[in-house]
Amino acid sequence: MELSERQEKIVEIVKADGPITGEKIADRLHLTRATLRPDLTVLTMSGYLDARPRVGYYYTGKTGGELFQERLLKLKVKEFQSVPVVIGEDASVYDAIVSMFLEDVGTLFVVKDGGRLIGIVSRKDLLRASMGKQELESVPVSIIMTRMPNIAVCTPEESVLETANKLISKQIDGLPVVRETEDGDMEVIGRMTKTNITKAFVYIAEEPDA
Ligand code: ADP
Repeated sequence: MELSERQEKIVEIVKADGPITGEKIADRLHLTRATLRPDLTVLTMSGYLDARPRVGYYYTGKTGGELFQERLLKLKVKEFQSVPVVIGEDASVYDAIVSMFLEDVGTLFVVKDGGRLIGIVSRKDLLRASMGKQELESVPVSIIMTRMPNIAVCTPEESVLETANKLISKQIDGLPVVRETEDGDMEVIGRMTKTNITKAFVYIAEEPDA
C-alpha cells in the first residue's frame, strides 16, 4: 500500500515518539483530530500502527513487505478456488481433448467412484498422446495421465501463498483441491490454478484494507 505524504509523517511521528495520542499527533501536524481520523483509521487497518485505549498509537514495526506477506497468508484456497473439471478413468484421450475445449480449462482431473482422484492430464500430456499413430478414441486417458501418489494437491484451508509455492516448485499450472475421505482417498472438490492466484493478487491490490 502506498502511503500519502501525511500518512508517512504520522508514521514517522509515531515511530519516534509512540505510544502517542491522536490529539498529540494532530498538534504536531497543526491539524485537528477530526482531519486526522481517516488517516489513522487507514494506518491501523492496514497494520502499520496499532492503537490501545488510553495509551495511544504505536508503531508495529512491520514493513510493507511483511504486511503484504501477512495478507497473502491470510487468503485461503476456499476463497479463490474454481469448480473442478473431472473425467472418468475410462474416458479416451479424444474425450479428454473435447472436455478440455468445452470446459475451457488447461488441466483435467481423472476420478473414479464419483470423485476419488486417481490422475491428472494437462494440455501437453494430450498433445504428446496425439503425436502418436494410435486412434485417440481407443487410447484410455489412464494410460497417459500423471497418477497418484505423484499428484500435488491442496486443501480448502491452505493459504494461497502455499499453493503458489507448490505450483512454482513442481512447475505445474494447477492443483486439485481435495478432502480426505474416511478410507484415506482424496476426493476432488475444487481447482486452484495460476489464474486463481492472480485473482488473489488483484484482490489485495483492489481491497487494501479488507
Ligand atoms: P502443461 O503440461 O500443459 O504445460 P502442466 O505444467 O500443468 O501443464 O503439467 C506438466 C506435467 O505435470 C504434466 O505431465 C501433468 O500431467 C503434470 N501435472 C499437472 N498438474 C500436476 C499436479 N498437480 N501434480 C502432479 N503433476 C501434475
